[in-house]
Amino acid sequence: MKIIMLGAPGAGKGTQAKMIAEKYSVPHISTGDIFRANIKNGTQLGMEAKKYMDQGLLVPDELTVKILLDRVAKEDCAGGYVLDGFPRTIPQAQVLDNALKELDDQIDFAINVDVPDENIVRRMGGRRACLSCGATYHIEHIPSKKEGVCDACGKELVLRDDDKPETVKNRLDVYHQQTQPLIDFYEKKGILRTVDGTVDMKDVFAAITAILD
Ligand SMILES: [Zn+2]
Repeated sequence: MKIIMLGAPGAGKGTQAKMIAEKYSVPHISTGDIFRANIKNGTQLGMEAKKYMDQGLLVPDELTVKILLDRVAKEDCAGGYVLDGFPRTIPQAQVLDNALKELDDQIDFAINVDVPDENIVRRMGGRRACLSCGATYHIEHIPSKKEGVCDACGKELVLRDDDKPETVKNRLDVYHQQTQPLIDFYEKKGILRTVDGTVDMKDVFAAITAILD
């Protein structure tokens, strides 16, 4: 079972990807992780990628797909895998698609965890962090005992810049421009499955397993 996860930043697709990987005993593959592993192990592909990263450049799609294919060729991916964070754009999806075709292979499902922007802005805007000890809270879901104060160390809790509505909205704009067309791409291929990501994480997962089982 080969799966691609789609969804806006903050939609919870990473959490779902982990849960899928655990339940179906398939690797959860994020491109960030495999880049780091290749660079750490000093592989040829890793060194090539590092050249771009050191210059602050994006790693070209062809190279990213090469690194990805190298990873999914490993034995633990024989039963499938969950891709998290790739592809992000149509060109990336096409490069991946063509590369898999050459191997007589294909993605089985693209699972779209759908959450409206306003829900994501609200979710992120409720996060609170302790910059002193790193503890995180949420004003609705995981409130601290005393408002604005860290349970663990008693320091003040803050809304991080990353979680501020303007920042979140900007990220969502980029997402809609780049990744939204992927939803149409996988829809045309007939493998798109959309689940409601606004419900409880366990219910999102139940909807996903109903598709995969
Ligand atoms: Zn703290």
